[in-house]
Parts: sequence; structure tokens; C-alpha cells
Amino acid sequence: MTIAYRPVDAAEPGQVEPRGVEPDGAEPGEPGSRAATLRVLRAPAAVDLVGAEAAAAALLTALGVDVSTESLRGTPGRMARAYAEMFAPQPFDLTTFPNDEGYDELVLARSIPVRSVCEHHLLPFVGIAHVGYLPGARIVGLSKLARVVDMFARRPQVQERLTQQVANWLRDNLSPRGVGVVVEAEHLCMTVRGVNAAGAATITSALHGHLRSDAAARAEFFALAVNGLAPSRS
Ligand SMILES: [Zn+2]
Repeated sequence: MTIAYRPVDAAEPGQVEPRGVEPDGAEPGEPGSRAATLRVLRAPAAVDLVGAEAAAAALLTALGVDVSTESLRGTPGRMARAYAEMFAPQPFDLTTFPNDEGYDELVLARSIPVRSVCEHHLLPFVGIAHVGYLPGARIVGLSKLARVVDMFARRPQVQERLTQQVANWLRDNLSPRGVGVVVEAEHLCMTVRGVNAAGAATITSALHGHLRSDAAARAEFFALAVNGLAPSRS
């Protein structure tokens, strides 16, 4: 799948450009500027809700479900709208700020909700993500880490790719010294069918930069992300 991001005002899809109001006259995103804002949009897919509803009705009928009853009459339409919603991330502004204090320790957002849809069975997988980074020249609002997770979750996905995409995106757009992402999720395709392994969690991780290359930093990240506890440094 090609993923395109474009700033609101850009004519060319697939580009990412900083935006922002700069009180000191610097160009947004340039060294010396203050807040810089990047409008993040995924190029909207063309959604044919009428076609999706007809297809959902055909699928249910082929599976032996009678969609003519009063209680199921609206189900194909609800199915179509539900999947359209699950595949449509909300645009957001990624605002970054200069790291004036030179903060160089881990910044970690724990237990970010993850709601996605497994692309092999089109059943949900649900869980949490822990997203951390070691700041470089800029820091980002913590809520934006959840927005990035949501952006990549709202599409047919596999958990491994979701984890990697969040890490790669933060590496490429925030230029931190390190990035770490852990996703723990329960896949309905594993728990309500197939092996019926109710309660089984799948854990994936992706690391970049110092969090990948430095064993102590990596251990600290995993201890904080998964347990909420820093390892003893003694
Ligand atoms: Zn699946």
C-alpha cells in the first residue's frame, strides 16, 4: 500500500511540509524557529458506501444469513459504515517544539489504545501501544504519539507492520536520537475462531537509533514500556 501524506495547502499529494506561525520570523521547521506544525493527512480512499452495503448484503446472504428480517435489514449498511470508520484515520497537526532544556532522557507514552483490523480475516485486533523516543533537537506533544498510532491502525493491518510503521514515521518526522514502539494486542481471528486462544496476546516491537544500538537504553525502554519500571542502574 502506498501511504501518502500531504499538508493541507499542498497541491501535490504525498508530500510532508512543515507549517506554523513563527513569532521570530524564522521559517517554520528551520533551525531557530519555535513551534513547527505538520498537518498530517492520509490521502483519502474513495469510499463507495452504497457499493459496500450491497456487497455486505451479498456476503451475509452467501453465508446463509437472512438479511430481510426487521432486525437485520439495516445490518449491511451498518457493516459498511463500521468498516469505513475503522479505515479512516483523523487528520491531525503534529506540532513540535524546540528542546530548549536539552532533555535527553526517554519520553514514553504508555498504554495508548490500539484498535485495528487484521487484514487476513478482517476481524479486529485490540490492545495497547507503548511509544517512546529519545529527543533530539525537537520534542512533540504526547497526545500526538497516540495520533500516529491511530493513523496507522485505521486500515487493514498486520501488527508487525503497524509497529514498524509507527517507529519509522516518528524516526523520519521527528528526527529523535532513538525510537521504541511496543504493541500488545489480542487478535479476534485467534481468539474467536481458529485456535480459539482466548486471552492470548501478541507482542511486537520496533526500535531505531540509540534505543536499538545501546543495550542499556534498550533494556530501560522495555522495562519502562512493559512494566512501567526503570531497571536498577546500580
Ligand atoms: Zn487474522
